[in-house]
Amino acid sequence: MALRNKELSKNQKIVLDYIQKCKKPVKAYSILSNVNKKGLKAPPQVYRALDKLIEIGEVHKIESQNSYIACNSTCATPRGTIFSICKSCDKTDEISDAKLFKFLSDVKDMNGLSLSGYNLELFGTCSNCKD
Ligand SMILES: [Zn+2]
Ligand SMILES: [Zn+2]
Repeated sequence: MALRNKELSKNQKIVLDYIQKCKKPVKAYSILSNVNKKGLKAPPQVYRALDKLIEIGEVHKIESQNSYIACNSTCATPRGTIFSICKSCDKTDEISDAKLFKFLSDVKDMNGLSLSGYNLELFGTCSNCKD
């Protein structure tokens, strides 16, 4: 659930613009080299912008690939994301399932963990790669 925060800083907007233009998850070094022309020369500027964008739910991190993708506004909460990832072509889609957060909240581990977030990655073969 992206907040569509209109109060992004200039750097945050530049980074978000680039990630939104990419159809696939992008690595930090790719973000760095592309926003360089726009004046973001120092990696910490980019990482700070990424941290904020992730915090507000505009961008999600794909942990297994160490890459970043723009939210497509279907996640239940910025703290709860589900991605389907094609093992052949890396096609990555955000899956919407509002019921899942509720379901997972009811799942208790031995210590009675109270759920505050999840980051699920489902791996498989996309329809294009099936044949
Ligand atoms: Zn999302
Ligand atoms: Zn595929």
